[in-house]
Amino acid sequence: MTQQHPVLVIGAGPIGLAAAAQLHERGEPFVVLEAGQTAAAAVASWQHVRLFSTWRYNIAPAARRLLAAPSCAGSEWQEPRETRLPTGSELIDEYLAPLAAHPAIAPRLRLGHRVTHVSRVTSAAETVDKTRSTGRAASLFLVRAETATGPTDFTARAVIDASGTWSTPNPVGRSGIPAIGEAGARDAGLVTGPLPDVLGADRSQFARRTTLVLGSGHSAATTLIALGRLRQQEPDTRILWGIRGEATPDRLYGGGAADELPARGQLGASLRRLVESGGASVLEHVSVTGLRAGNRLTVTLADGRELQVDRLVPATGFRPDLGILSELRLALDDAVDAPHALGPLIDPEFHSCGTVSAHGARELAHPEPGFFIVGSKSYGRAPTFLLATGYEQVRSVVAALAGDDAEAAAVELTLPRTGVCTAS
Ligand SMILES: Cc1cc2nc3c(=O)[nH]c(=O)nc-3n(C[C@H](O)[C@H](O)[C@H](O)COP(=O)(O)OP(=O)(O)OC[C@H]3O[C@@H](n4cnc5c(N)ncnc54)[C@H](O)[C@@H]3O)c2cc1C
Repeated sequence: MTQQHPVLVIGAGPIGLAAAAQLHERGEPFVVLEAGQTAAAAVASWQHVRLFSTWRYNIAPAARRLLAAPSCAGSEWQEPRETRLPTGSELIDEYLAPLAAHPAIAPRLRLGHRVTHVSRVTSAAETVDKTRSTGRAASLFLVRAETATGPTDFTARAVIDASGTWSTPNPVGRSGIPAIGEAGARDAGLVTGPLPDVLGADRSQFARRTTLVLGSGHSAATTLIALGRLRQQEPDTRILWGIRGEATPDRLYGGGAADELPARGQLGASLRRLVESGGASVLEHVSVTGLRAGNRLTVTLADGRELQVDRLVPATGFRPDLGILSELRLALDDAVDAPHALGPLIDPEFHSCGTVSAHGARELAHPEPGFFIVGSKSYGRAPTFLLATGYEQVRSVVAALAGDDAEAAAVELTLPRTGVCTAS
């Protein structure tokens, strides 16, 4: 009975679309709900940023097979050169948009559908809330989405949550909670998004002003280097870089020349040049307790220091939105909010991108049969997710949903080992 219902995918980012390609290949009915007005809406928010992995790592094998097959629609897809590094915008134009528009996917993609709740219901429409165990495994999923015309309910035999973490950034404040005054400072526009377009659309916010960038990962590095370029053109631009701990070269610059992804290594090297030439001042032990919005932003730190800046860029990472899943039985890792078995494999205190072992349906399972979190959301609060990891996740998960246990268990992954995503 439930087999006639579709598999529902939440999110049409790179991983949700890869899941759709896998589901099509296996002949499984599916529907994809996407909050944005276009596919890959989160990638569109950082379209000005160049990826650090080449096309070789950025295309899902099932999507490549789908796009490369002769299409009755007549439009031929040109696979990008595998050694090239795309920007977010090129990732969309040359891969994700054609994939979303493919006749195998487009009719099953619902744009402007933001999922707000996931629960369960029997096929006879009996309620199955979180406390009900009898008949739970055989029940359907009930998924509610908010649309321009109001809420709509869908039923599904399985749910793959590929909704990413872009819409739930970590707060600026210390200890994982907002700084006092943070909401007001954000409303006043003095705290920007995590990856502003410093050299493009957002340039006037930063030119000849003082910016504080918080964080020590890839996003912080990207913004700092863009600010450094702006400073070459507008010498009165001031750059402060606030990090939580001490400014050791490893923490600041990652894998550097030893990085197996050269573009990521180069980012660390450029950052080192910017700091060593005095272009950016590093502030250690930055722990923000208060933000006060006026003409400028006053940033109060736990040790009593006070900084006056024009903009604060919070490159402080993301966390998963678990609120939409509160009616499901989840097993999550205590530390990183990833699926329980995956947590220890990706804990950023011990792992970089490349030391994550291959994993699939088995590690991503929850006590809720037929439900999986995949993609960047599956990493919870860990910052080390790579597209190639997610593509292998959805290959395994879709095999499991199709009843192909052997393929679901045969997980394989080769990733570069070092880089700026190393937290240790
Ligand atoms: C600046 C930057 C550079 C990166 N560079 C690389 C790189 O070089 N190589 C690499 O391998 N990885 C890179 N990553 C990491 C990662 O691969 C990307 O973040 C990738 O976009 C994650 O894909 P995803 O499909 O899991 O999530 P997302 O891309 O975030 O997609 C999720 C989708 O779900 C939608 N959505 C969200 N909530 C809902 C909801 N409630 N209902 C319906 N839809 C919803 C969103 O609108 C979005 O379209 C980078 C990340 C960033 C931020």
